[in-house]
This record gives sequence, C-alpha cells and structure tokens, in this order.
Amino acid sequence: MHIRRDDTVEVITGEDRGVRARVLRVNRRKRQAIVEGVNRVYKHLRRSRRNPQGGRLEIEAPIDLSNLKLVCSKCDKGVRVGARIEDDGTKHRVCRTCGADLGEL
Ligand SMILES: [Zn+2]
Repeated sequence: MHIRRDDTVEVITGEDRGVRARVLRVNRRKRQAIVEGVNRVYKHLRRSRRNPQGGRLEIEAPIDLSNLKLVCSKCDKGVRVGARIEDDGTKHRVCRTCGADLGEL
C-alpha cells in the first residue's frame, strides 16, 4: 500500500484527471481512497422527518488506488513509488524518478 492518509496525490484517470488533492481516507481492504474534491457524486436523500424536502448531497465517492499517483514534491508530479528499508529497519517510500524519500511506509 503506497498511499496513505494526508498524502497529496494526482488523479491519473477519469473526469478528475490531473487534479491534485489530499487523501482523506484509505480503505486498504478495497484498495480505494477518498480524495478531497475528487470523484464527487450526488447522494440523493429520501424525504424524512428531518429532511422533509429530500434533496441531494454532494459527496466524494471512493476512487481506486490504481487511479492515483503519489506526488513527489521534488519532481512536482505524480510518480511511481518504490520502497527502501533504512538502516534503522524502517520502511520508507522513495520516488522512482529522483530517489527522494517520500516518508515512512
Ligand atoms: Zn521525485
């Protein structure tokens, strides 16, 4: 899993292609993420006592992790990510393009 909460990612497919935004949530099991402002859909609300008119709510739908790339701050673009084990035993993500350290895995 190369993408975590609070990462900045670039969307590489779909309507929001090219958009950069922050990851709000990651679902590891489904390999999907909720990304701020990306993949917005209308959720339609049934009429209820609290909401007598019904209506619709704009929310972010989950997007598949394979449609996202982590943004390398050095390259300033979405990049492929590799992993490296540091001398202290921690796993770090590295940019495949420039080798920059992209934080702990
Ligand atoms: Zn880079």
